[in-house]
Amino acid sequence: MGSDREDWSRYGFSTRAVRAGHRRTNEGENAEPIFTTSSFIFENAAQAAARFAYEEEGNVYSRFTNPTVRTFEERLAALEGGESCVATSSGMAAIMATCMGLLSAGDHVVSSRSIFGSTRLLFSNIFTRFGVEFDYVAATEADAWRAAVKSNTKMFFLETPANPLTEVCDIAEVEEIAHASGAILVVDNCFCTPALQQPLRLGADVVVHSATKYLDGQGRCVGGAVVGDAQMVGEQVFGVLRSAGPCMSPFNAWVFLKGLETLDIRMRAISDNANRLARWLTEQPGVERVYYPGLESHPQWQLAARQQSAPGGIVAFDVAGGQAAAWKLIDHTRMLSITANLGDVKTTITHPATTTHGRWSAPARAEAGIGDGLIRIAVGLEDIADIQNDLRFDELE
Ligand SMILES: *Cc1c(COP(=O)(O)O)cnc(C)c1O
Repeated sequence: MGSDREDWSRYGFSTRAVRAGHRRTNEGENAEPIFTTSSFIFENAAQAAARFAYEEEGNVYSRFTNPTVRTFEERLAALEGGESCVATSSGMAAIMATCMGLLSAGDHVVSSRSIFGSTRLLFSNIFTRFGVEFDYVAATEADAWRAAVKSNTKMFFLETPANPLTEVCDIAEVEEIAHASGAILVVDNCFCTPALQQPLRLGADVVVHSATKYLDGQGRCVGGAVVGDAQMVGEQVFGVLRSAGPCMSPFNAWVFLKGLETLDIRMRAISDNANRLARWLTEQPGVERVYYPGLESHPQWQLAARQQSAPGGIVAFDVAGGQAAAWKLIDHTRMLSITANLGDVKTTITHPATTTHGRWSAPARAEAGIGDGLIRIAVGLEDIADIQNDLRFDELE
């Protein structure tokens, strides 16, 4: 939307993050205004008719057009390198709207196995009731993606790095398999954000986001977004938003706009902290294995170095002694936030087997490699020494 949109592609990433999408009003404001209005006034009946018919661009009703939300959409589109962006009320609403906009009963989806828990439930428990079929594959095995294709495969869906073990999936490789099969590729880019990885530039068709995480970056609001081309996202996914209504509030859009302004420096600082924490963890007593794409011991660390501009903020590790030891370590922290959220400047610590992946069956967890001694840390921006000091490995014995 917006034929007067500036061509932001000639500007650098940080410039786009700070400036894209804001059309200054007559008041001459420097910061983006929050338009807290549900509807908009037309000059006359004919204009109302033209706006409703999409013959004239302009605001109608904040379920589907709001200037603050549109500023966020244009800014995120400029960062991901997409033509269109649709903001949603949550990350799950973004994934739901993507599926509703692009799939029909009878379609088949191939998804990576290690996806966000609610995404798996949305696919397996809800969309299957509407006649969509799903198969799950190991994200890092190209042959598994290829073998899962059926005549009705319409979409590939993947998350990289995956939660919580940070497996990295080769987006360009899976893109080739998807397109050779006539399917589209959707990538959940929540963990990297466009600051570290831009899936559309690697051939993906659609990017989905939980803006709740790093785009906000300070743990304040729930929101999401879908980015892609003008047809699939600008029309089909937007059509779902317009009719079904899981829209973003203008206030939340404004918070996310402020988050985007510091996205690049935050993601780099968080990656630095996470890299230092991961290396330090490998030397701690009782730590059996550390999972982090920046470590040379990570099975896909070279792919991560190619595909991402930094390894990101999620570090996972196994402690000896299973759940009891993991809970002890978590409970002995004083500063770290015990919460399953991530993408905050505050470092969070969580036990996946009993929280984010607690509703998975034990065999499903074992197959995915999520052990009882696994701990996930989403590294924030505190001093690295304080994060380290808060993990009392000496008390594990
Ligand atoms: C949190 C998350 C989601 C869902 O986002 P919400 O904003 O909580 O609805 C989807 N994908 C990933 C990878 C996430 O971490």
